[in-house]
Amino acid sequence: MKQKIGILSLGCPRNLVDAEEIAGRLKAKKYSLVEDLSKAQVVLVNTCAFIREAKEESIEAILDLVELKKQGRIKKIIVCGCLAQRYRDLFKELPEVDAFVGAPEPGEPKGRFALTPRHYAYLKICEGCLNRCSYCVIPEIKGPLKSRDEESLLRQARLFNRQGISELNIIGQDITGFGVDRAGKSLLPELLRKIIGATPDIDWIRLLYLNPERVSDELLELIASSARVCKYIDLPVQHINNRILKMMHRGADREKISALVKKIRKIIPGVCLRTSLIVGFPSETEEEFEELLDFVRDTGFERLGAFIYSREEGTPACRFKGHIPRRIKQERFNRVMSAQQEIAGKINSGFLGKIIPVLIEEKKGADYLGRTQYDAPEVDGVVYIKSGRVLKPGEFIRAEITDTLEYDLVGVDKQK
Ligand code: SF4
Repeated sequence: MKQKIGILSLGCPRNLVDAEEIAGRLKAKKYSLVEDLSKAQVVLVNTCAFIREAKEESIEAILDLVELKKQGRIKKIIVCGCLAQRYRDLFKELPEVDAFVGAPEPGEPKGRFALTPRHYAYLKICEGCLNRCSYCVIPEIKGPLKSRDEESLLRQARLFNRQGISELNIIGQDITGFGVDRAGKSLLPELLRKIIGATPDIDWIRLLYLNPERVSDELLELIASSARVCKYIDLPVQHINNRILKMMHRGADREKISALVKKIRKIIPGVCLRTSLIVGFPSETEEEFEELLDFVRDTGFERLGAFIYSREEGTPACRFKGHIPRRIKQERFNRVMSAQQEIAGKINSGFLGKIIPVLIEEKKGADYLGRTQYDAPEVDGVVYIKSGRVLKPGEFIRAEITDTLEYDLVGVDKQK
């Protein structure tokens, strides 16, 4: 009798897709997979090693499993993903772990074992990265960009369509790089057009991780003109000061980023613009940080995530001079996030009284949790919904917004 396997996936949605791929292959080999880890005999933990906090979270998860194994509650521990890929000698530190395996080779998943709620899915269109940002370990872990085969992607998209999902999230390290390794130019608009055609029953298609260097007018116009593509642009810019952007080896400078933000807002009116920033990069001066803070205030991003620079061995930035004390990095992080809290609150108050489509995620007590097209799963806000009827995850409703919080909305179901 094959042992019951439980999967714990940490880190980003790209990692989650890897875990789903491993699960699909185990299922194809007739292993029984359990969602409740307490029922598992073998636990596979899919780790993340992007920055310090992520590594700590992965190690903690492994040590918790080691404890369960000592208590005889699980039999085997398998560690996979970025931590195992990056630290090949990890087995010396963790002899209680039965196996360390790297990330699965990208390929067409064999059957889908969803680790996401059934009503949304991620489609990872490429592996590795085209860029070499000086602070980032991903190219070292995942290697150069490898675009997945278009036909295999369309088959997977059609499968998701047949499975009746409500939302398809298109992901990669930098999805604008899709096709550059084959055609020398981004083939993302072409692929998106074909995915739209192949998924007539999927209500929302969302693009995540667009590098500002390769966002084309063609792509923006396609997003603007397609009713089922979320008016949501996830554009990590990381910083805005040209000296820092240069040291980060980011292709787009201040002028290019500012012009692109203006263009996006013009081509896609009412767009939700999300970005990610790094604060405390080596040698970042107070003036350069102030420039970033002003940029945040002037631009008014609808969604913003900030990260404290994490010194990662093996990256070029690790050897740069002028590393900044943790205390100052933390203080800069707090200043960016409190500025954003104010901005987000103001933007959210604009929804008061509006009636908008909401995707129901789950029941929460007597009410429901949902998302708007401006909220990506797991990272953005939610809508608290009061309804007089029974709603199902994956169902769309029209909600009237009755109250607004900094990051979340409160609304009532308009269809009794
Ligand atoms: S775009 Fe830069 S930060 Fe993002 S995965 Fe690639 S190298 Fe890392």
